[in-house]
Amino acid sequence: MQYISTRGQVPPVSFSTAVAQGLAPDGGLYLPQTLPDLAPLLPAWESLSYAELCEAFLAIFATDIDRAELSGIVARSYTKFDHADIAPIKKLSDELFVLELFHGPTLAFKDFALQLLGNIYEAQIARTGQPISVLGATSGDTGAAAIHGLLGKSGVKTFILYPEGRVSPLQERQMTCTGADNVYPLAIEGSFDDAQAAMKTVFEDRAFAEEVGLSAVNSINLARILAQCVYYLSAFFRLPADIREDVTFVVPTGNFGNVLAGWLVQRMGVPIKGFRVATNQNDILHRLFQTGTYELDAVAPSLAPSMDIQVASNFERFLYYAEGQDAAKVREIIQTFKDTGQYVFEDFQADGFSSSRTDDAEIGVIIKRVYEQYGYVADPHTACGFSDDFDGPEIVLATAHPAKFPDTIAEAIQQDSTHPSLETLKARAIVKHTVEPTPEAIKAFMRAH
Ligand SMILES: *Cc1c(COP(=O)(O)O)cnc(C)c1O
Repeated sequence: MQYISTRGQVPPVSFSTAVAQGLAPDGGLYLPQTLPDLAPLLPAWESLSYAELCEAFLAIFATDIDRAELSGIVARSYTKFDHADIAPIKKLSDELFVLELFHGPTLAFKDFALQLLGNIYEAQIARTGQPISVLGATSGDTGAAAIHGLLGKSGVKTFILYPEGRVSPLQERQMTCTGADNVYPLAIEGSFDDAQAAMKTVFEDRAFAEEVGLSAVNSINLARILAQCVYYLSAFFRLPADIREDVTFVVPTGNFGNVLAGWLVQRMGVPIKGFRVATNQNDILHRLFQTGTYELDAVAPSLAPSMDIQVASNFERFLYYAEGQDAAKVREIIQTFKDTGQYVFEDFQADGFSSSRTDDAEIGVIIKRVYEQYGYVADPHTACGFSDDFDGPEIVLATAHPAKFPDTIAEAIQQDSTHPSLETLKARAIVKHTVEPTPEAIKAFMRAH
């Protein structure tokens, strides 16, 4: 299997190259050259364990990794999860389910991809002998998950940009209290979008990228998308067989990586009914799905900070398919959006997506309602998935453990929420660095370290 860029200006590359580069050299995002048809494989996959399913799925894509090596990588990636099912389903009613994606080491769904990515990098460095520098920008959970996926991996240095004061105190502790000497949490003054924009410019400097062996762990990395596909498959198999083709997956959404993974699984022939993109008050995607206009707005910090973004990077992957795989059209749309802050789609096809928006005032109300109705504690991101427009059976993706956001939970339902892994962090010293959110300052810091 080869990988192509959404912007169509680089030749196809192997899986390992696409993963190592993160962003394609033409600024585009990598996608499989063709999508496989999974339908014929589903009966045989139905009874596999999570790790077996992951290996079977990835083997279709990671064709340049030896199967035995892939098997080891996958096996090591799900050992730090604290639930035997890895991605368990909770049934709240006959028509309402939760897919819990917070049983990994940093208690958010990003561990699914980043534990795997850490092991892919480690195997790659062992194979090539070339050290790498990972650069990422985070609105909270990616940074923590990346750092924990790469902790103690020799040959890897990890640099994570995050907006100072805009990630939760516990998220910051997960990034800054590791004690690891190959990890550099970089606090910037500005928003997540500022961090992401500066980071993208650093990646576009090919000479620098070569010099430091630059790699991305943001949700633009192909391996992350593919790793996330697996829990949609696993959830599909674990839903009651008589209704699973009628169930809408509700996905708390920011950068559009999580929901895109599900949509790709549907496109690969798995009969998932559809997806609801659940945004917080930063609702660029909700407005797009309602009106057909993709229009930039200011970021408004919210109670669901990991969704506080406006430019949804992975949207470009959807766009590539929505525009009939026309890379020139993708370039034109991205350029227009960059120049003017908006793009108006004529005849926009939502294609399997619906959407909803939840503002901060509603988040607490929803947490309380879900707790009273089902006895279930949803974190503020997950709460956005429980907004009211319930249309047939749904499975809500629980993207973080409530203990990561104890203040919001306490205010909503007067309950303490804790988790042992978070308690141990509170005793440790914070180590972080302050950097200007400019490509020059970031490059200078990376060179110096
Ligand atoms: C990252 C994150 C999201 C948003 O996921 P995207 O893939 O960026 O759409 C939602 N909830 C939590 C808890 C997250 O960490």
